[in-house]
Amino acid sequence: MEENSNFIRSIIKEDLESGKRDTVITRFPPEPNGYLHIGHAKSIVINFGIADEFNGQTNLRFDDTNPLKEDREYVDSIKNDVAWLGYEWENLRFASDYFEEMYDRAVLLIKKGKAYVDDLSPDEIREYRGTLTEPGKDSPYRSRTVEENLDLFDRMRKGEFENGKKVLRAKIDMASGNINMRDPVIYRVSHATHHNTGDTWCIYPMYAFAHPLEDAIEGVTHSLCTTEFEEQRPLYNWVVEECEMESKPQQIEFGRLNIENTVMSKRKLKQLVDEGYVDGWDDPRMPTISGLRRKGYTPESIREFVQATGVSKGSGAVDEAMLEHFVREDLKLKAPRTMGILNPLKVVITNYPEGQVEMLDAEINPENPEMGTRQIPFSREIYVEQDDFMENPPKKYFRLFPGNEVRLKHAYFIKCEDVIKDENGNVIELHCTYDVETKSGSGFTGRKVKGTLHWVEASQAIPAEFRLYEPLIRDEDLKAADESEDKTFIDFVNEDSLTIQEGFIEPTMKDAKPQDKFQFFRHGYFNVDPKHTTEDKIVFNRIVSLKSSFKL
Ligand code: ATP
Ligand code: MG
Repeated sequence: MEENSNFIRSIIKEDLESGKRDTVITRFPPEPNGYLHIGHAKSIVINFGIADEFNGQTNLRFDDTNPLKEDREYVDSIKNDVAWLGYEWENLRFASDYFEEMYDRAVLLIKKGKAYVDDLSPDEIREYRGTLTEPGKDSPYRSRTVEENLDLFDRMRKGEFENGKKVLRAKIDMASGNINMRDPVIYRVSHATHHNTGDTWCIYPMYAFAHPLEDAIEGVTHSLCTTEFEEQRPLYNWVVEECEMESKPQQIEFGRLNIENTVMSKRKLKQLVDEGYVDGWDDPRMPTISGLRRKGYTPESIREFVQATGVSKGSGAVDEAMLEHFVREDLKLKAPRTMGILNPLKVVITNYPEGQVEMLDAEINPENPEMGTRQIPFSREIYVEQDDFMENPPKKYFRLFPGNEVRLKHAYFIKCEDVIKDENGNVIELHCTYDVETKSGSGFTGRKVKGTLHWVEASQAIPAEFRLYEPLIRDEDLKAADESEDKTFIDFVNEDSLTIQEGFIEPTMKDAKPQDKFQFFRHGYFNVDPKHTTEDKIVFNRIVSLKSSFKL
């Protein structure tokens, strides 16, 4: 995070200097109802980053107050993702650890005349709440006595009432200008099995009540959340105050991170998974941390990206090119360079001795000489890219065409002499000649050629699958869509977002393991896919192409 550009840092610095606080405790509080996405990475980087900076602590706390949507699978994936991003939490907590204490605090509110059991239906509650311009109306049950409320709340806990028949509401102000303060519901009946507490409870606290209590119980000093909670801050403070919590956390809001050409809400991401548009939460097209990891993103690149987006109250969408920029930067010096053919065309070098295979020296990463060199085979038969040949090329086409000479990366010049076609006229093979004088590294200066092609020697080539990705959501179309057409984001799922190609890689890559990353000459950065790669077949996900128009 840029020094100065982070207003949260300034607030905390001041709090420490003025003596208002003597320590910094933050928390990252996901609800375990889905996998984490890149937006969560922002919250993680801010919460852990700020605490680290001031020698404080950060808890990982699962906000698990809604048993119907929550699951162990999500808990495990979230822990894994936070750790993978490079952060260590001080304590691992569950909101559900505090259910008993939350219940006691609710009883305290009742005793103080600050909460009541309401029999209105959810629809009626909404109706009574009023609007931005009209005050709300008191529920007929608002004046129940403390004794009656205590008795009913106890019976709610015991399971005497069905879902939706009774709620506990904070008694604040039905005429408040802030609708959140118009007697918000703080407990509801939900006969559901909880992933953590099982069937112990059939009433569950609402987020707006639970969250401030969780923060206060843990001694969180600065509760950092996104701006949609700004309007809830008065309620947050009311709960801390009226529940007589000793510790007084301070809520500070920052702008959400959004990225173009993607949807970023667990609910929508879950729908894409459930309806089979992707092959799971970790599909490389998903903006989830696990999807980005499987695509080949590194923790460093995600952290750098998030930091570059800054911390402010605003929340515009950033271009995905910015995210791509940071992974290129990170991999530039780390990823070995190699050659792969995505769309093979056989080339026979007719004047190269039959049966001969020579080994050529090639740098592993010219930008990082310490990575050393590799040996790649060359022989009479190689593969090149189908795109690198045109029978009738336009002007300024410098690759292979009849009569033209090109350079093979790390090898020799070859000249296209003959084009072999099948009975349908498709080009199936090229016959070329090579010039032994032109060997790479020999210092040959006799003549120049304009095109440099990548290639793979045929007899030792390893078959490989390449998966190329385009944005999952056609965002431009989605934005331009007429709301009245009643379409959802699902109507804008890009059906061409995955292209699979079968080709070949250099034999130097025979030991590549899942999650290994390479830069394929001219094609970009690729990651070995951990899900589809098997003993018999290596599958690559393209992380990014090499070119970028993005300028920081
Ligand atoms: P979603 O709507 O995607 O499900 P959420 O806000 O409901 O997200 P939580 O699990 O409640 O998800 O979020 C945990 C923390 O991450 C919260 O503090 C939340 O504010 C923060 N967060 C979620 N999405 C973003 C985002 N796009 N940018 C920054 N922070 C985010
Ligand atoms: Mg949520």
